[in-house]
Amino acid sequence: MEQTFVMVKPDGVRRGLIGPIIARFEQKGFTLAAIELLRIDRLLAEQHYSDLRTKPFFGELVDYLTSGPVCAMVWQGEHAVENARALIGKTNPVEASTGTIRGDFAMDIAGNIVHGSDSAASAAREIGLFFGKQPVS
Ligand code: ATP
Repeated sequence: MEQTFVMVKPDGVRRGLIGPIIARFEQKGFTLAAIELLRIDRLLAEQHYSDLRTKPFFGELVDYLTSGPVCAMVWQGEHAVENARALIGKTNPVEASTGTIRGDFAMDIAGNIVHGSDSAASAAREIGLFFGKQPVS
């Protein structure tokens, strides 16, 4: 069974959206494999988004991610990576369809409330970063 890494970002936690986001994943048919509420430091935020290091918004992105607690989760199921991305919706909430998490709960790309791994390789890397190297079961 495939696993994917999902994180409710600080604005999602602040706005009380952990519950609604968990409900969407459960309703879709995912199984929760791990969950932790934590405050991440700049090093972990930079490692998590290392592929975006050269982007002009990188500093702002790290500030945003470290501005409050996040809820890190591992969800599993068939085609977990692709199904989670479909549930979350497009990166920019302006373009995200109604019915997706970002389409329904977010307004702006700099505050798009949730992250989902973009590939099986990213999922393995991100689960390792947040939950350690042992497979989550
Ligand atoms: P995520 O990795 O958070 O799930 P994504 O894979 O849909 O998002 P990426 O292109 O990897 O999209 O961007 C990562 C994050 O960087 C976005 O979720 C958003 O918070 C932030 N971001 C992307 N583009 C911009 C931008 N132009 N301005 C500000 N923040 C941005």
